[in-house]
Amino acid sequence: MAEDILGRRCATHDLGSGDVARMVELERDFRARSRIAESTLQVTIPVRFIHIVSGAQGVVTRQQREDQIAVMNAAFAPAGVSFSHDEAQVSEIDNAAFFAMGHGSAAERQCKSQTQAIAPEQGLNFYTARPGGGLLGWATFPHEMAGDPVMDGVVMLDGTLPGGATADFNKGKTAVHEVGHWLGLWHTFQGGCFPPGDEVADTPAHSGPNFGKPADSGQPYNRCPSEPSSALCPIHNYMNYVDDDWMTEFTDGQIQRIWAQIGMFRSRLLQPGVSNVRESALAAPVVW
Ligand SMILES: [Zn+2]
Repeated sequence: MAEDILGRRCATHDLGSGDVARMVELERDFRARSRIAESTLQVTIPVRFIHIVSGAQGVVTRQQREDQIAVMNAAFAPAGVSFSHDEAQVSEIDNAAFFAMGHGSAAERQCKSQTQAIAPEQGLNFYTARPGGGLLGWATFPHEMAGDPVMDGVVMLDGTLPGGATADFNKGKTAVHEVGHWLGLWHTFQGGCFPPGDEVADTPAHSGPNFGKPADSGQPYNRCPSEPSSALCPIHNYMNYVDDDWMTEFTDGQIQRIWAQIGMFRSRLLQPGVSNVRESALAAPVVW
């Protein structure tokens, strides 16, 4: 029985104001020494699907995996980020407790400890399960990997993959949203109306998530008073909470942030000779 989901819910935790301030500082410093030219950067990230099932529940098909990768590749193409997938590396684990794991639960840690399929600095561990509580998924942030590598990756409600059972959220955009977090993006409504918000200049600040399929003509919804009157809420942004049909864009600022975050915390994804982030910038690891 499919669970009714009334609005997008992502369990990826928000950062506190102290952590945000520290990240702003680290990123400014990294940009100054890396001279990133985003338009020419390319990276291909290996994905390992780890499907947690409970008997016949939660089974994901090859077609769904391939469609999911295609949706992610289309979404991240403007950033020069693509994803590769090998059917021979798919794992399926039958475990009722892991299948129902909640965010931050002992079951989640136990599951990941036993099933992690790729070293987190080398690729993306993509778990599917059915956590309940209306959650569509969650992710860990790049800066968290070094301190807790076993937890790194994304966890997705199985019904959110393309062709899945979760109405309005079954076109694979949840994975784009969660992988956005995994590459260092925050919600566009991070921090509400308090600066620096999501720390991306070209996503106007808004006080909270937008849900469903808001009409462009109804702008602005919950735009912050500090924004110019011309600023529109990012109702088509992957890092908002709108339905899958409405999610269509990352901004240039978000793309730059992805590259700074990869450079700072996931630089082992970069292949020599492909990235033009200066090696001297990568030689000095950023410590969170
Ligand atoms: Zn989220």
